[in-house]
Amino acid sequence: MIIKEYVNYKKESLKAEIASLNPKPHFVIIQVNEDEASNAYVRGKIKDATEVGIICDLVKLPVTVSQEDLLKKIDEINNDSNIDGLIVQMPLPRQIDEEAVKLAVDPKKDIDGFHPLTKLDPCTPKGIINYLKNENVALSGKNALVIGRSNIVGKPMARLLLAENCNVTTVHSKTTKEDMKFYIEHADIIVIAIGKAGFLDHSYNYKPDAVIVDVGINRIEGKLHGDAERDLPVKLQTPVPGGVGLLTRLTLLTNLMEAYNAQHK
Ligand code: NAP
Repeated sequence: MIIKEYVNYKKESLKAEIASLNPKPHFVIIQVNEDEASNAYVRGKIKDATEVGIICDLVKLPVTVSQEDLLKKIDEINNDSNIDGLIVQMPLPRQIDEEAVKLAVDPKKDIDGFHPLTKLDPCTPKGIINYLKNENVALSGKNALVIGRSNIVGKPMARLLLAENCNVTTVHSKTTKEDMKFYIEHADIIVIAIGKAGFLDHSYNYKPDAVIVDVGINRIEGKLHGDAERDLPVKLQTPVPGGVGLLTRLTLLTNLMEAYNAQHK
């Protein structure tokens, strides 16, 4: 199923589930920036939530807010039993310690999955695993290659693939060209998240049955490009746009439902 159809189908079933719930699932986004990209992400999150019947409030704080006042606001939301989820939109201004903020969010409400104690997995890798399972992509015993090792994508991706019994390799900017070629050409599943347009190109001999999941978002002359060139000779390649971004957005909603169910049962 193409990703757009899969996401629409999942959103329809979420909508039906939420229609019978009282109180409605409810989350808050705290935004402390005037960043254009963040504004677009926040608008997207509010739109997705509203479409399925989830309540989403945006709390905008001035970019000059002190760390103490931001932490106070987080604490207030943590203690509000009417709110099931809390997102602090990144990036944060320079006077704020990002790690302190991530740790301040109640792990039970951390629908981004960033807190070390949260039971919720980060949205991008979790959305990818769910989609691969829906597509019946075999994972157990397969060679999975994760290109990139960030805390929000690469590292949790490798952990989740390992939990599915893949043989997982992680490569990064210090990997040699020769090793990169070797790992790419031996991989059954490649997840790339490095922010380098067209890094996976037609020069490699991919396994014909390989699956490429393209997480990269690169804006070039106003157009979005992934980290892989289009139409590589593999069994399945996720597009950019219209790919992993949609899975990430869907998983924020399903993480919220998990947080809601844990708090209301
Ligand atoms: P990040 O924190 O900037 O990390 C980039 C990773 O790529 C690092 O581990 C870096 O290696 C590695 N890298 C950079 N250049 C490389 C190269 N030439 N060869 C091999 N590895 C290289 O990035 P991120 O937050 O994970 O995001 C990665 C991309 O995914 C970005 O384009 C971002 O916009 C996109 N993204 C998309 C979604 C979505 O929902 N679609 C979600 C999150 C991110 P070192 O560790 O050695 O520096």
